[in-house]
Amino acid sequence: MPILEKLTQQSQARHWTDSIPLEFHYTAGVAGEEFRRELRDNGRFLVSKCSKCKSTYIPARMYCPSCFIEMKDQFPIDKPGYVYSFTSVNRDRAGADTELPITVGLVKFEGVKGGIVHLLERGDSDRLSIGMKVSPSLKNPSERGGAITDILAFKPISTESSSKTVEVGKAERWEVGAGENQARSLLHSIEESGYPVEEDEMTISSLRSKISKGELLTREEDRLLHRLGDKAREWRKAVKSSSETEPADTLSG
Ligand SMILES: [Zn+2]
Repeated sequence: MPILEKLTQQSQARHWTDSIPLEFHYTAGVAGEEFRRELRDNGRFLVSKCSKCKSTYIPARMYCPSCFIEMKDQFPIDKPGYVYSFTSVNRDRAGADTELPITVGLVKFEGVKGGIVHLLERGDSDRLSIGMKVSPSLKNPSERGGAITDILAFKPISTESSSKTVEVGKAERWEVGAGENQARSLLHSIEESGYPVEEDEMTISSLRSKISKGELLTREEDRLLHRLGDKAREWRKAVKSSSETEPADTLSG
């Protein structure tokens, strides 16, 4: 029937069954592709940094959602993630019981917005907690194809002793040996204090990067570090005094 002709009666309508071959490709987008390429080739996570608000995002993306400007600054990060939230499931997608519980979590990185949702492995210990530092366990380079499944899971990093070897070598240099020098130990004490860094995340992140590379801090940065150290000390004091005055059972959550 020519395209301009119209059906005038319902009985003229016909139907037939067949299959239409559909082919599609999922594209991860420009920045998404860069992220995947870096993961595949170098086993690292690529982030984007906004030149205006200085926010950093993982995975790398093209535009800053706050400033609506293109983010041209992309670089890989070499730091452990931490567990932001997690849950365990006992059934698969079909509703069948799984052999073992599967734990899925949101892994975030200090000073970086966004995160990666992935499987979490409990490792040797059975405990898994919010804030626990984790590192990715990746497929062998030859098996990686640039998919998020190139990450097998995130595993807890042991932080009990700095001399302990960590499975993922890159995380090792983040194991700060306290007392090596003042900046290091100060940074360490800020991190250990549990002080909610939030708005200072970027500052701490850049200080950490410099300190870990053994670079000297500028006078301004040194001042910032000390200011944060003071805040962390106050925070620790406040936490301590509230734990002394309040019954332990009111502190949960
Ligand atoms: Zn921005």
